[in-house]
Amino acid sequence: MSEKKLGIIGGGQLGSLLSAAAKKLNIKTTVYCDDIDGPAQHFCDDFIFGKYDDKQKILEFIKKVDIISYEFENIPYDTLNEMNKLKPVLPKPSVNRLIQHRLAEKDFVNKLNIRTTRYISVEKKSDIETLQDLLPGILKTTTMGYDGKGQYPINKIEDIETLNIDFSKGYILEKMVKLKKEISVIVTRFSNNNYSIYEPIENMHQDQILKHSVIPALISKKILDQSKDWATRIAEELKYIGTLCVEFFIDRNENLYVNEIAPRVHNSGHLTINAYNVSQFENHVRAVCSMEKIPLKKISNAKMINLIGKQIEPYRQNLKLNDNEFFYDYLKKEIKDKRKMGHITTLI
Ligand code: ADP
Ligand code: MG
Repeated sequence: MSEKKLGIIGGGQLGSLLSAAAKKLNIKTTVYCDDIDGPAQHFCDDFIFGKYDDKQKILEFIKKVDIISYEFENIPYDTLNEMNKLKPVLPKPSVNRLIQHRLAEKDFVNKLNIRTTRYISVEKKSDIETLQDLLPGILKTTTMGYDGKGQYPINKIEDIETLNIDFSKGYILEKMVKLKKEISVIVTRFSNNNYSIYEPIENMHQDQILKHSVIPALISKKILDQSKDWATRIAEELKYIGTLCVEFFIDRNENLYVNEIAPRVHNSGHLTINAYNVSQFENHVRAVCSMEKIPLKKISNAKMINLIGKQIEPYRQNLKLNDNEFFYDYLKKEIKDKRKMGHITTLI
């Protein structure tokens, strides 16, 4: 039995579900979070509230743990790098730095000869005017985006005037893909060519927020193989340790594109808790804590629905669940519009 102590940066639902998985493996968790109400405090062993530039608090955190991981990618590189000098940070800070920047991330993927959407760096308004063939497109901040935040659809040049975009930040403009489907592939890499890979998950978004995820994804054998191959190659190339998710687009001509990489566990993988013998969370903890890999077995097909905002209320009021339904409440203090409050997984 391992006695390692795992530090997790970030105290949202992913930090909560990682803590719950660690508990099952007898690994103690300390969560560091800049939100005093971070819901992971209800799931971890020890919770430290502090800002990401509070050196004193961060040192206190580092002293308590053996290994550090994180639930989200938007942590300053310098913070992770300084931590890494004292205790191992996994996935490596350099991997996080690459992936948290949309431009660096897409350049990296293209260098592997893996297709992404067409894109270009935008530093000033006039850059877009010369890029008509990327319209209709989406302008995205290069860093800090999630759940569609920091994204602006641009159908025609004039849209830029009305959107009032703050060009002191860096952006990329991406060509809009005519989507047939979105899928994701989750892989946990333990060491060279040693990984567990989950089957592709089909995802449906609403207002750029994940609404539901389902396995099996209804896709061709070619897309299934290609998406798994690309996700594995990305993980190998990064020498990644832990769980990683690759989000893909499939267009109406059956072309596959990498949309983005998440250097962490992912919302679309919540169904792995009930649908597999080992969840993406347990696998992440196993990999970063150098524990053994257990052969992955699917137990059932499944569908996961995110409960956003008030959608959680009926479930909190003891709505009756069937035997094949599993309800998760992230215990967030406040219900807010567009906030992911919990999810429900149905085995099908
Ligand atoms: P986030 O970091 O917010 O998850 P994404 O780049 O994954 O940002 O965008 C969120 C969602 O917006 C995608 O899952 C997809 O539904 C839609 N979207 C983003 N970029 C494009 C694009 N180039 N073409 C079509 N749809 C897109
Ligand atoms: Mg995304």
